[in-house]
Amino acid sequence: MTIFKIGDASQAICDSCMKITTTTFSYRDVSFNDELAAVKDILVAVCDICNEVVSIPQQSVPAISAARGIKIS
Ligand SMILES: [Zn+2]
Repeated sequence: MTIFKIGDASQAICDSCMKITTTTFSYRDVSFNDELAAVKDILVAVCDICNEVVSIPQQSVPAISAARGIKIS
């Protein structure tokens, strides 16, 4: 797995821009499409054009799971 750090550049398909855009890794509060609260300060890829969160790297998954009280088996 590739480990990213803040400021790293990547590319991803942005849902808002509807194309492949360049992204920059940054810490954000991320909310998901359910009842639970946002998870604070996780490393995500942010679209350089529209500033939306476009992808969440594998390395951030444990932090999200822990914050939401989900056990990783
Ligand atoms: Zn975008």
